[in-house]
Amino acid sequence: MADLGVVERGWLAVEDGRISGVGAGAAPSDLLRTMGEAVVEAGGRVVLPGFVDCHTHACWAGDRFDEADLRLAGVPYLEILARGGGIMSTVRATRAATVEVLAQTLAARVRTAERLGTTTIEVKTGYGLEPQAELRMLDAVLRTSRTASATVVPTYLGAHAKDPDRQRSVEETIELLDEVVQRVPGIACDAYCEKGAWSLEECGLLFDRAAALGCPIRVHADQFNPLGMTSDAVRRGARSVDHLEATVDAELEILARSATIGVALPGCGFHLDGRFAPARSLVDRGGALALATNCNPGSSPTLSLPFIIALAVRSMRLTPAEAITATTVNAAAVLGLDGDRGALESGLRADLQMLATSDERSLAYEYAHPGPDAVWIAGRRVV
Ligand SMILES: [Zn+2]
Repeated sequence: MADLGVVERGWLAVEDGRISGVGAGAAPSDLLRTMGEAVVEAGGRVVLPGFVDCHTHACWAGDRFDEADLRLAGVPYLEILARGGGIMSTVRATRAATVEVLAQTLAARVRTAERLGTTTIEVKTGYGLEPQAELRMLDAVLRTSRTASATVVPTYLGAHAKDPDRQRSVEETIELLDEVVQRVPGIACDAYCEKGAWSLEECGLLFDRAAALGCPIRVHADQFNPLGMTSDAVRRGARSVDHLEATVDAELEILARSATIGVALPGCGFHLDGRFAPARSLVDRGGALALATNCNPGSSPTLSLPFIIALAVRSMRLTPAEAITATTVNAAAVLGLDGDRGALESGLRADLQMLATSDERSLAYEYAHPGPDAVWIAGRRVV
């Protein structure tokens, strides 16, 4: 993760949406001749892979501005919940929105992410919390995936919370997985394992069904309480374990020795409570780490991976190179897209960004970074 393999002065060729050649020094003159008008002179600027945002809840309706005001005024979260705020307020607004409105709102957010250098973005369901609303959210994400320039990867997060008004919410969520898989074969199955949300045992029932249906497993674990989900997910061969703010050392060691990727979401610590995942320790133990925005209206309202990189080097003591690896090639692996994108290698998809700087460390050094000068997705310039 610490070595980006920076080419100080180099060239890169794109053909049919894929990288067809990359090298050090000046571009071969016969290549320049065949490219003709299509040559882009970077003029000393950094070119790096487009970002992969591997953990977002970017599909939602409504807003939480009033709740944010209350929180800043010092009103405790439980009282905000009692006043009808929190996740259930987003659930109510999302249930009331049409698929068209959800898709349009998401498409606008994806466009914002593209301008910030993101070329692949994962989007979870999980604000429906009942079968029809979850399917409409999935529909909205799929519609956006057909119209957006960036790749939009859906994840099924029916197990995001429990609607207190639904007695059979666990059973319903598990039963719905069959229909979700029919619509999106191979979709990843995610759950929020936490006190007051899905228990370790309930997550186990869901993941047993997911495994039977061939779905990759991901899980939100140890955000507030270490419930043993991290080691359980590793045993199940999960793609990723996400959050990890409260992970104990023994569980972190098990994660570090596994092929499961830890996903840190420092936006939550910045926005909520100053607690951050032990990402430095995970990397030092030899574990694989990805970083994501966790874009959502409650705990991390941002689409900016440049900001997450700047935050991660300050709050988690990652190096700029580690943070860039964690938002490109490692994040692609979380989505099962390693070997397809996330690096500048021949054969990979030509998802590229060009920064207005000659040093990629500016992504970490600056904060509130404005994003790249230019972005290409599958070889087509979109910014
Ligand atoms: Zn999340």
